[in-house]
Amino acid sequence: GKVLVTGANGYVAVWLVKQLLEQGFSVRGTVRSPAKAEHLKKLFASHGDKLEFVVVEDITKDGAFDEAVKGVDAIQHTASPFHFNAVDPSEIIGPAVAGTGTILQSALKFGTNVKRVVVLSSTAAVQEAGLPEPKVFTEKDWNNKAIEEVETKGKDADQIEKYTASKTLAEKAAWAWYEKNKAQLKWDLVVVNPPFVFGPLIHEISDVSALNTSMNLWYLFVLKGAGDAATLATVGNCWADVRDVATALVRALEKPEAGGERFIISAGPWKWQDWVNSARKFSPSVPAGNTEWKRETNVDPIITDSSKASKVLGVTYIPLDQTTKDILADFEQRGWWK
Ligand code: NDP
Repeated sequence: GKVLVTGANGYVAVWLVKQLLEQGFSVRGTVRSPAKAEHLKKLFASHGDKLEFVVVEDITKDGAFDEAVKGVDAIQHTASPFHFNAVDPSEIIGPAVAGTGTILQSALKFGTNVKRVVVLSSTAAVQEAGLPEPKVFTEKDWNNKAIEEVETKGKDADQIEKYTASKTLAEKAAWAWYEKNKAQLKWDLVVVNPPFVFGPLIHEISDVSALNTSMNLWYLFVLKGAGDAATLATVGNCWADVRDVATALVRALEKPEAGGERFIISAGPWKWQDWVNSARKFSPSVPAGNTEWKRETNVDPIITDSSKASKVLGVTYIPLDQTTKDILADFEQRGWWK
């Protein structure tokens, strides 16, 4: 079969394209300009004409994906902004929500062969920050707090809330659209909700300053000593290796019983100091950080229950030390760390 991957040049998406090709799928990637496909063409040259590209300059435009969806058997929608630079929340919410709407609409109108659409959401759409007590979040939960934050604070809302609101609103829009149009669809919808994604990079990246948001945070907090002792001990979330997230997306495409479901992905909780301690096992020059902190006495305010993905998708997880080791090897080879 042929799979359309939107935003094919992104950090997560290139790993997804790789796994799809390795499993024998043909892939059509969308990118915003022809130049953004060049690296992928080289990287996957051995797959020949099993990889092709369509340029979609503006994913928010009506009919944006009308051409791109023609003839594909399934869709993986990953294109969505992940940055902390929006002044007005609409700058990030706009493309997230509208891009999700246009892909679903194009799939309905012109995706005559489409059997499944997978949307890459995030645990940003599931978990609420700043709760007074630790909480275990499941697929039943929604981050309504982020939506309220941007509604009440507008451009003064926290950057993290602007991004998490964009993911929550985009995923809510996807399910609302799906419920409304279900009766006339020949395909079903699956949503995958990963937490922070870390791991080595295979997308095009000019320089360490151009790292995608999650890996940029990892670089700054783990290797560059960006966090003070309190930050290293208290700031964290859940995580998954980028290669496991790609696998989860492929499984979300393949498992019939996944239809109509959302799936939390998580290898477990972390604090920045966990990553620092891990990195120091492989590279003694990593700054020691908070040497008082201990995982045994640490409290994780946010835990996500990923048992559904384990059961239905059979997702397993690369351990934290392995991910750290692979990131360091990658960075070293690029001359960003030694
Ligand atoms: P990247 O920034 O590497 O990739 C983002 C992709 O989306 C790129 O292809 C980018 O295209 C495209 N994109 C961004 N903004 C727009 C826009 N306005 N219009 C069209 N395309 C756009 O980040 P990731 O790979 O990390 O993110 C991919 C997806 O994964 C996102 O949906 C993100 O929310 C989700 N995710 C990421 C997590 C993480 O920790 N990394 C965690 C959970 C979910 P271009 O290169 O042209 O800008």
